[in-house]
Amino acid sequence: MVETFRGRCFCKSVSFEIDAPILSCVNCHCESCRRQCSAPMTTYIGVLDGQWRWTGEAPKTFNSSPGVERTFCGNCGTPLSFRSERMSGVMHLYLAAMEEPESFEPTIHVAHEEKLSWMHLGDDLPKKNGPEYL
Ligand SMILES: [Zn+2]
Repeated sequence: MVETFRGRCFCKSVSFEIDAPILSCVNCHCESCRRQCSAPMTTYIGVLDGQWRWTGEAPKTFNSSPGVERTFCGNCGTPLSFRSERMSGVMHLYLAAMEEPESFEPTIHVAHEEKLSWMHLGDDLPKKNGPEYL
């Protein structure tokens, strides 16, 4: 039996489901994720297309750079996902939008060179420079 996890925006207009297993769970420090989420970093999970779907309303989309599409709720503005042509076939959904955000744990930091200087990481996870859109 496939285990299904659910997530949603703040106002519940946009929601999504994903089927385990996921590909990855990543802390990203890149400026684009920071700006979209208005947060010092974000954490996303990578899921293969076909293993996730929008439920409820479809989100709005925004191209943050060539080949990169980000989504957010058109009603409440909650950021929900990004995807990159460089990693086609994979959707990245923000972990904090999950109904149970402790269902998954990040295993790596990426874009570490863009990390804000006052953010001090207290974990032993690998820290990689550059984007790694797993
Ligand atoms: Zn919403």
